[in-house]
Amino acid sequence: MYLDIPESVRKKERQKAKDLKKSRWWQNLIQDTECYYCQTPIQRAQVTMDHIVPISRGGKSTRGNLVPCCKTCNVQKRSLTAVEWTEYLNQELSGTAPSSTQSEAGTE
Ligand SMILES: [Zn+2]
Repeated sequence: MYLDIPESVRKKERQKAKDLKKSRWWQNLIQDTECYYCQTPIQRAQVTMDHIVPISRGGKSTRGNLVPCCKTCNVQKRSLTAVEWTEYLNQELSGTAPSSTQSEAGTE
């Protein structure tokens, strides 16, 4: 599933996000916040703004689609949607990732 968003629309949404970053709403939000994805408390200077649905997937720069995010998650998330990303995180946390070579089936 890949949406072809015209560059003009992307530019507009990026600009809107920039404007919202300066808004009182966002500034208040990041005073004392945590990462939307990993729930790590983030210092104000480290907060990045993330689109839950990326602009490239048709997401808009609205308050409902913008969340504070730590730099680590922001970099890793890239163009994944929040749902895909959350699934990825859940896998990591529950230890069911295929990379795990340890046998979970034990002597219960
Ligand atoms: Zn995070």
